[in-house]
Amino acid sequence: MPHDLPKAYDPTAIEDHWAEYWVREKLFAQPTPEPAFASNANARSGGEPFTILLPPPNVTGRLHMGHMLNQTEMDILSRWRRMSGRRALWLPGTDHAGIATQMMVERQLATENTTRQQLGREKFIERVWEWKRQTGGAILDQMKRLGASVDWQREYFTMDENLSVAVREAFVRLHEQGLIYRGAYIVNWCPRCQTAISDLEVVHEEQKGHLWEIRYPVIGDNGKETGEFLSVATTRPETMLGDVAVAIHPEDKRYLHLHGKKLRLPLVGRAIPVILDEWVSREFGTGAVKVTPAHDPNDFALGERHHLPSINVMDDQGKINAEGGVYAGLDRYQARKKIVADLEALELLAGIKDHINNVGHCDRCKTVVEPRLSTQWFIKIQPLADKAIAAVKQGYIKFTPEQYEKTYSNWMENIHDWCISRQLWWGHRIPAWHCSECRKITVARVDPTACAHCGSAKLTQETDVLDTWFSSGLLPVSVFGWPNFGNSNTSGAPGPSHLGTRENRADTALSDLRDFAAFYPTSLLVTGFDILFFWVARMIMFGCWFAGDVPMPDGSKRSLADSVPFREVYIHALVRDANREKMSKTKGNVVDPIEIVKQYGTDAVRFTLASMASPGTDIAFNVARTEGYRAFANKIWNAARFLFMNVDRAAEIGITVDPAALGGMPAVADDAPLEARFVTAELCSTTYLVNQALEDYRYDDAANLIYQFIWGNFCDIYLEIVKLRLDFSETTDKEQTKSALTTLVSVFEASLRLLSPFMPFITEEIWHTIYEESDLPYKSIALTNYPRATKNQWNRQALSQMENLMDLVSTTRALRKEIGIEEKSITPIELRINRNLREVIEENRDIIERLARLSEVRFVQEITSGLTMRSTPDFDVAVIYERTIDVPAERERLTKEIAKYEKGLISAERQLGNESFLAKAPANVVEGLRKQEAETRLLLEKAREALKNLNGGD
Ligand SMILES: [Zn+2]
Ligand SMILES: [Zn+2]
Repeated sequence: MPHDLPKAYDPTAIEDHWAEYWVREKLFAQPTPEPAFASNANARSGGEPFTILLPPPNVTGRLHMGHMLNQTEMDILSRWRRMSGRRALWLPGTDHAGIATQMMVERQLATENTTRQQLGREKFIERVWEWKRQTGGAILDQMKRLGASVDWQREYFTMDENLSVAVREAFVRLHEQGLIYRGAYIVNWCPRCQTAISDLEVVHEEQKGHLWEIRYPVIGDNGKETGEFLSVATTRPETMLGDVAVAIHPEDKRYLHLHGKKLRLPLVGRAIPVILDEWVSREFGTGAVKVTPAHDPNDFALGERHHLPSINVMDDQGKINAEGGVYAGLDRYQARKKIVADLEALELLAGIKDHINNVGHCDRCKTVVEPRLSTQWFIKIQPLADKAIAAVKQGYIKFTPEQYEKTYSNWMENIHDWCISRQLWWGHRIPAWHCSECRKITVARVDPTACAHCGSAKLTQETDVLDTWFSSGLLPVSVFGWPNFGNSNTSGAPGPSHLGTRENRADTALSDLRDFAAFYPTSLLVTGFDILFFWVARMIMFGCWFAGDVPMPDGSKRSLADSVPFREVYIHALVRDANREKMSKTKGNVVDPIEIVKQYGTDAVRFTLASMASPGTDIAFNVARTEGYRAFANKIWNAARFLFMNVDRAAEIGITVDPAALGGMPAVADDAPLEARFVTAELCSTTYLVNQALEDYRYDDAANLIYQFIWGNFCDIYLEIVKLRLDFSETTDKEQTKSALTTLVSVFEASLRLLSPFMPFITEEIWHTIYEESDLPYKSIALTNYPRATKNQWNRQALSQMENLMDLVSTTRALRKEIGIEEKSITPIELRINRNLREVIEENRDIIERLARLSEVRFVQEITSGLTMRSTPDFDVAVIYERTIDVPAERERLTKEIAKYEKGLISAERQLGNESFLAKAPANVVEGLRKQEAETRLLLEKAREALKNLNGGD
């Protein structure tokens, strides 16, 4: 049957087909292992697991270049490990993204002239689920199209029922352990989103603002104002409505006499004390600081130290509340204006200075964040953080690049208690109930009907939901069935009604200890720097904390080393534009991966990213490069067509390639033709180096090695030579032809496997075409074996011999071009060469003749004078051509060459005469330099000799 490959390479046609095929055939599904696998390491078949969790994108997300890089790297590693015999599991899913998703649906409601408040909580949640069903998770469809080799059978959503059970269990357990508390603290409050947000969700930006100095009248012992004032400085005058004291430094002589006195708070009238505190900076502002515990974290701490009350003057939307007296109802900025005007009218404004403020904005909606006192739920982070720090310090988790270990440790050592509550509707509702009788709180796994403290039935559930990171931090344990292994249906914790089973997930049995035993800890997390603290840190804290309670498969206690959520973390770099600028919407330099994929194909885009990806190096994405890799794919396509054409012609005279010769590392006999020994040796050394590079996350090295092998060694050298052996005439030596054809096909097939993790689509297409349908050994190239080679396994002699040959070929070609010999014409050469090389050339005369277009190679002692000659340290070559030499041009060329060699020689001599250089430089560098010096000296002599001959030999 002739091999059918369309004439032109069209990535879109083949990619859609295979992407769909991989999903439909469930090729990358990793079923729950047999019990024997989980409980007995010796009985493990199907290889050591290689588990990788997709950092879940937001369900609202769309694929950007950062995702594409992240996923390309994960896919290369997963495919490579899978083909190398590991039981590879790449697990996908999405995050319910509390704020982002709620905002998305709120915007939708706004277009319908309604709000979530009008809709009510339950209806609103319904709407969010509806939105999720319709358009949520589009990013995973994009992933499918890009061919990510994930197990779609295990796809999760952080609001799924089984994952919600895990969230609830984690909360209750931490509460039982005394690690969850509720209290009023200063949080970052977004007045638009109307929720507390994490420090990490606040983006700071410098803004021009003002520093207002306000005069607070001093009250005398008689209760009347003395006429003296104490001036305070503030960037947020409206917060003065909540002032409870003014603090000065205990050694500040300017104000010490006021200590113990009271001040009259302007506009409000409250008498507030002057207190001493070392925290006050005498240099900032006036050196006297107004204390507003409810609206500033430092003031809050100060208030705690001095047992001061906290007066919250703002509501959830950033408007002044009833505590603000006449200003009540005003927006915070309107209030600021009015307060400043009123102070001015009362002559209590001492001054206004320009001031650069570092203002925090909500990362989601860009509203200015208001530090504000509010009642929230917190995790006492210390015991969790200590374990997480120890796990990394003791080497149970390895970071690449290494520097991130330090970043992580620094952050973890300065971590604060984690505010886990959010005033949102979309999310996991906190499983706590408030009793209106005894005012105590009941936290429970099962929705309670009575207060655990007084038995009253007057319970209302907490309205807050949990921070999104609470659930994503649990993913490494929860996706493998924690906490209800094997009995998810009898957990007894149905969860709040709005968390009900919206997705039918009955076919995915995640809840089984066998999964946990086999796949936890996961092998690797590949992620961006920006979520090091969000994800990586929280996953490590929760993993170490909760997995520690899960016994090992043999029943023994799990150590910290086996409790970590992943053994390695790889932090990938940023994708920048071609000019190394950060991509941003405002700059308009964002490259949309989907658009580029449409233009050049997924394979070319993946290869572009891979060819530049290495630990710690940002990628400058250049479309010109992608175009180049599209051409690379095209070259492979054409090579395949050439190969199939020959296979088909061979079949006509009864020569076929034995399928058994395919699928492994091709090898040839010692007496095989040079090009066969050469190409198998190159494949072997490339294979060895590619595997090494991938072990070290050097995607760039791996990609470039494969590129050089296929383009340079296989296509440009080997294919050109092998044409000599593919003789399908009546008189052919069938054994030799068959042997050549077998090497050709088997090396090509192995090259496809080598390339497959990088370019999965084109390799899949061509690989299928190699086999007759009935001979197909696997359903996909992704299930074959990745080529392996050990060091020193390859034939180095074949490599150096081919190098010599190619040296002669390229020198001769260049010479022919210079002289202006037509591409088609065939000419003889004169060659002066040492004896060792002469043998190689003689043995492979047919190769030289073909590649350099020669009619004859004449070995000579001296090149005939009058011929244009080129020299290398190993040989002199001249093309015999009737046109006479252009003496002045040749003289000029040689003179230039001599000058170049002389200069090179001086510099080499200088370096080699430098004692300190010789002492410091590695031996191989010095050796290389010496060799180069000797070669330059030889070339200089040759050029001088040639010039002498040209000038008449005097
Ligand atoms: Zn916001
Ligand atoms: Zn009660």
